[in-house]
Amino acid sequence: MENETKRRGHLVLVPCPLQGHLSPMLHLATLLHSRGFSITIVHTCFNSPNPSNYPPDFNFQPISDGLSDGEEVFNRGLVPFAMELNLNCETPFRDCMTRMLSDDLQNTVVFVIYDSAMYFVHTVANDLKVPTIVLRTSNATSFIAFTILMHKGCLQFEDNDQLDEPVAELPFLRSKDLPRLDTSSTGCTALLHEVMSHTINATKTASALIWNTFDHLESTTLQKVQHDLQVPVFPIGPLHKCSPSSCTSLLAEDRSCIGWLETQAPKSVIYISFGSIATISECELVEMAWGLAASEQHFLWVVRPGSVCGSKWVELLPPEFETKTSARGLVVKWAPQQQVLAHEAIGGFWTHGGWNSTLESICEGIPMLCQPCYGDQRVNARLVSHVWRVGMQLEDRLKREQIEKAIRRLMVGQEGLEMRERAMVLKEKVELSLKKGGLSYQSLEKLTDFLMSP
Ligand code: UDP
Repeated sequence: MENETKRRGHLVLVPCPLQGHLSPMLHLATLLHSRGFSITIVHTCFNSPNPSNYPPDFNFQPISDGLSDGEEVFNRGLVPFAMELNLNCETPFRDCMTRMLSDDLQNTVVFVIYDSAMYFVHTVANDLKVPTIVLRTSNATSFIAFTILMHKGCLQFEDNDQLDEPVAELPFLRSKDLPRLDTSSTGCTALLHEVMSHTINATKTASALIWNTFDHLESTTLQKVQHDLQVPVFPIGPLHKCSPSSCTSLLAEDRSCIGWLETQAPKSVIYISFGSIATISECELVEMAWGLAASEQHFLWVVRPGSVCGSKWVELLPPEFETKTSARGLVVKWAPQQQVLAHEAIGGFWTHGGWNSTLESICEGIPMLCQPCYGDQRVNARLVSHVWRVGMQLEDRLKREQIEKAIRRLMVGQEGLEMRERAMVLKEKVELSLKKGGLSYQSLEKLTDFLMSP
C-alpha cells in the first residue's frame, strides 16, 4: 500500500486534545491506516501530537484553537475549556476542510471521524456535505448515563435521600453513580448543559459510531444504543491493543520505573495513577501516603506535576514517608502506563477509573481499586466493582486506616485473589475478541466495509 493512489479512501480524523481522548483517536488512525486508508489528522495547537510517532504518510493539519494560553483555559475547568475550544475551532476547521476538499480533485475524502467533544465538526462537515462518524472514547454505559441525566434536566449531583436508589434504566448504578462534572468553581451549570447537549447530539446525528469498548463488556448496553440510535455501531476496542506500537503520550514517560519493576517480585507492586486531569488535595495526598506506608505493600506511584493542589510536585509529601518507604516504593511524574500494567511485578492498580486506565487494566488482568473523581468515572467504578467484579470502589475522602485495609484486601486478601482470577478471564476475552473471528475483529471488518461504501 505504499502508493497513495492504491489506498482505499481518505479519512479526516479530529481528536479532542486531552490525553484520554487523543490516545484512542490516534490508535484508531494507526489502525485504519494499517487497513489501507489515507489519514489526515486535524489537530489543535494545544496538546498537539508528535508526527514522528506515526507513519510518514500521515498528514497532520494544525488548526488555530485561539487559546493563547491553553493551560490557563484548561485550568479553569473542563466545561469552559470544551466550550471555548468548540467556539474557536469552527472557522479554522472550515477553512482547513474547504482547502482540503478543493485540492481533492478525485473526491477521495470519504468520512470525517471525530470525537463527540469536538462537536463543531458536525456543523462544518454537514455544510460541506461530508458524512461523519463519531468516535466515543468512553463506554456505552456512561453514554446512556449521560443521556439519563440530560433527560432529567439535571447534570448535577443532588444531595438527597435517594442517592442509594438504583437508576431504573441501568439498575446496577445507584443515583450517586451517575456522571458528575464539577461546575462549582466556574458556576457554569448552563454551559455544562449546552456542552453536554451538543456532545450527545453529535453522537445521535453521526452516520455511525465507533466505540472504544468491546462487546463482551457491555453487550446489552451496546444493543440498546444500536436500537435507540438506529445507526451502525462498531465496538472495536480496546484500541490501544490494536495499534500497540504507537506512542500517544503527551508527557515524557519516566522509563526508569520499568527497570525498578524488574527488581520486584511477581504481583507484589500496587501501581497508583489518577490519569492526566484529576487533582487531589494536600489532605488526600497525605492520607494516601500514610495508608500506603501502613499497608507495607510495594508501590509505584505516579504523582503528575500540578496534580496536588497547592504544590508543584511532591513537596507536600511528609518527609518521614520517604524514609519509611524508599526501600519498597517509587514515585514518578509520568509512567509508560501500558507497559507498567503489563509487567509481571504489578499485582493491583489504584486508579481514578478513567476509561482508558480501566481498559488498560482489564487487558492485563490487573484488579483495581477505583477512586472515581469526576465525569464517567463513577459509572466505570460501578461496572468494575459490581458488574465485572474485577475490583472494588473506594468511597470518598478515606482516612489512612481505611486505605491501608483496602490495599491489603486487594493485594494480599482472598477477595483480591478472586478479583484477579476474574480479571484474568476478562483478559482472555479481550484477546479472543481482537483475534481473527473475534467480536471486535468482526466489528473492525464491518467498519472497514462501511468506510469503503459511503
Ligand atoms: N497515562 C500514562 N502515564 C501515566 C498516567 C496515565 O501514560 O503516568 C495514560 C494512561 O495509560 C491512559 C491515559 O493516560 O491511557 C489516561 O486516560 P484515562 O481515560 O484513564 O484518564 P483521564 O486522563 O482522561 O482522566
